[in-house]
Amino acid sequence: MKRLVEIKTIGDIFPEYKGTPIGLLLEYHNLNKKLDKYSQAQLLIGMCMDNRKHLRIPDNFSYIIRAGGANLRYSEFKISYAIAVGGVRYIVLIGHNKCGMVNLIARKEQFIKGLVENAGWEKEWAEEHFMHFAPMFEIGNEIDFVISEAKRLRLRYPKITVAPMLYNVDNSKLHLINE
Ligand SMILES: [Zn+2]
Repeated sequence: MKRLVEIKTIGDIFPEYKGTPIGLLLEYHNLNKKLDKYSQAQLLIGMCMDNRKHLRIPDNFSYIIRAGGANLRYSEFKISYAIAVGGVRYIVLIGHNKCGMVNLIARKEQFIKGLVENAGWEKEWAEEHFMHFAPMFEIGNEIDFVISEAKRLRLRYPKITVAPMLYNVDNSKLHLINE
């Protein structure tokens, strides 16, 4: 079975997501569905801060939390808010290929040099900053990470439906993931 399923027709959407805001997101973004009007959020989307991603969705349709690698471990209060006050019952986690949060250690020198040159930091501070935070933000592999993050959130918020997805930055399409 293929791990990634590109959504090219309505029939590609997994049955458990059909007729839900998760299925609608796939229809709006991948299938060019006409944008409906919303007065209230239907969904919470967690996605990477990466600049290569843009979603086609209606106004008011979704809360969006953007964090490196779609890592929501440090955004819990915002998730709780979207559920408790915003009333959303669905979460979509969108990882993407070529993500900068994969193999962070390879960019250590660039990170330190960049902070020194672009931000005016001392080299030692920049080194310490990297070594402290890189392990918290490293995601390992985009697909595995977004699956594990979905599992974690399902345990944390048992009544909420959580769907992991992958955004392909080469064709700008969303893919469902066979877990
Ligand atoms: Zn990324």
